Amino acid sequence: MSLLSVQSLTTTLRNGAAIVDGISFEIAAGETFALLGESGCGKSMTALSLMRLLPDGVRSAGGAVQLAGVALHELSEREMCAVRGGTMAMIFQEPGLSLNPVMTVGAQIAEVLRLHDVGRASARQQADVGLKPDLQQRCIELLEQVGIPDAARRVHEYPFQFSGGMKQRVMIAMALAGKPQLLIADEPTTALDVTIQAQVLQLLRDTQARTGMAMLLITHDLGVVSENAHRVAVMYAGEIVEQASRDELFSKPLHPYTQKLFAALPDAVRRGRELSAIPGSVPPLGSIAQGCRFAPRCEHAWARCHEETPAWTEQAAGRGVRCHLYGSAEWRVPSAEPSSLYSEFSTQHPAPGTPNLALLQVKDLRVHFPIRKGLLQRVTGSVKAVDGVSLSMAQGRTLALVGESGCGKTTLGKALLQLVRPTAGSVQFEGKELVGLGVQALRSQRASMQMVFQDPYASLNPKLRVAEILEEGMSALHIGGDSKARQIHIDGLLDKCGLARAAKWRYPHEFSGGQRQRIAIARALAVSPKLLICDEPTSALDVSVQAQILNLLKSLQQELGLSYLFITHNLAVVEYLAHEVCVMYQGRVVERGTAAQVLSAPQHEYTKTLLAAVPRIETVL
Ligand code: SF4
Repeated sequence: MSLLSVQSLTTTLRNGAAIVDGISFEIAAGETFALLGESGCGKSMTALSLMRLLPDGVRSAGGAVQLAGVALHELSEREMCAVRGGTMAMIFQEPGLSLNPVMTVGAQIAEVLRLHDVGRASARQQADVGLKPDLQQRCIELLEQVGIPDAARRVHEYPFQFSGGMKQRVMIAMALAGKPQLLIADEPTTALDVTIQAQVLQLLRDTQARTGMAMLLITHDLGVVSENAHRVAVMYAGEIVEQASRDELFSKPLHPYTQKLFAALPDAVRRGRELSAIPGSVPPLGSIAQGCRFAPRCEHAWARCHEETPAWTEQAAGRGVRCHLYGSAEWRVPSAEPSSLYSEFSTQHPAPGTPNLALLQVKDLRVHFPIRKGLLQRVTGSVKAVDGVSLSMAQGRTLALVGESGCGKTTLGKALLQLVRPTAGSVQFEGKELVGLGVQALRSQRASMQMVFQDPYASLNPKLRVAEILEEGMSALHIGGDSKARQIHIDGLLDKCGLARAAKWRYPHEFSGGQRQRIAIARALAVSPKLLICDEPTSALDVSVQAQILNLLKSLQQELGLSYLFITHNLAVVEYLAHEVCVMYQGRVVERGTAAQVLSAPQHEYTKTLLAAVPRIETVL
């Protein structure tokens, strides 16, 4: 008997366009059911529809939701308030935004306890609780349950005093306070480092084993699904397109979209080959009324796919798919052979750079930030963000810098470009010392070293058109000839980066995340650099868009002989792209070597911990 039963749930915009379109699924007690798909597929809107927390302009347009025998769609808003945070709780992606910054974490947990755990009468009696002893004790127990050390002291602290992982633990403690039978976890670890992610997911599994609660896990991360889910539904453009047990889905995905998601994953096996990116992007929800919504991006599509909406086909008990390829005599089921899913990268064209020529030499680099205190701002100590790092990079190679947030990766990248002035040490680029150079001398060097940032939304000036963005660097460095020559150069850059030439007259907000990252890469290339420092360039992107950007970076390296310093915490990307790896911890490089050495035979305990924390996917693809 299922705990949650969702039948034909439909949510629409005011104009009637369906953004969650008749989806059905069931979750049993103690089960983890994953909703998988790219951003914009309707996963989070499904969760909000279940909670009846729809944003303005969106309304429920039908369907039935039963939780523990209670028809949620028939409850009044007042009755629903008792369900939210009680029988059904939710944790969100960004714990920093979900917690109230002006209340202690104890007060926030106590608020849930008052509403759902100790009853309304007690709630009134305890309305003045700073934190009354029994309530405080329960808050401390909950914080201890989720692994917050020294909970008796920390219960009085504010969210800003907690790290990202600890904030997510507090969110879980709040969710558990109401003793939920169903926990909805919406991308609960996307904002966290890989080691913290492993801890949070383990905590959720332990809690589930202890309490028997069911979990709806919303994620775009196949590794997280692989390690945590019992059953999986794949969502695309507001519909569920495939549903199966975890083992069935990972051993033989049926829907072309699911197959493409698997094929887009970077890893060591696909090194040297082009990843199979999914062309285009998810259509705006509600924009396709007829035919299969995946048809514009599907390599198997034929006329029927554009004319007739595919029906749900049951393949076996609990396994179904929405695609004309199944249950149809006129077409064969697509092969999941690797060769059909990604093509050979042009390995016969090696990078033109000479691998042994040192482009960048860094020796004992230090960046210390002073800690100032008191009225006179006396220096009382320092934060050693980068503490004695030495490395070297050859032309045409990729060096990956891996480690958790706060280990000094980004500061090191900025120090190499002299955007942050080093405290000590040496940075030599093509044999020329950069540390200590004046502004003018540095300006001419900057053309050779460019940076691509993590967030393509924040790194482009929204008031400039693409052509102006690309020309800005050339004008500042007085390169690229006259205006006409620059326009020709810009057209070439757009071609190289896979953007239409007409894109140059548009503004950044008119592009998708992946296209914006292409523009950011084109901007960096505009001044003909030899070294690109890529700071987590794919971490804000979906797996299919990530594949497009990785393919682009790889082909540019082969064509132009570029060197990349690739700052990342995604070890699958490192396996796929990097030649050498440096592992950073607390401002120091603790291990370095070739990608194969570091990833297959790590020597340092920290590297071993980092590798062990990465969710692994075993597929047939
Ligand atoms: Fe592709 Fe047609 Fe199946 Fe849609 S119905 S996924 S277009 S083959």
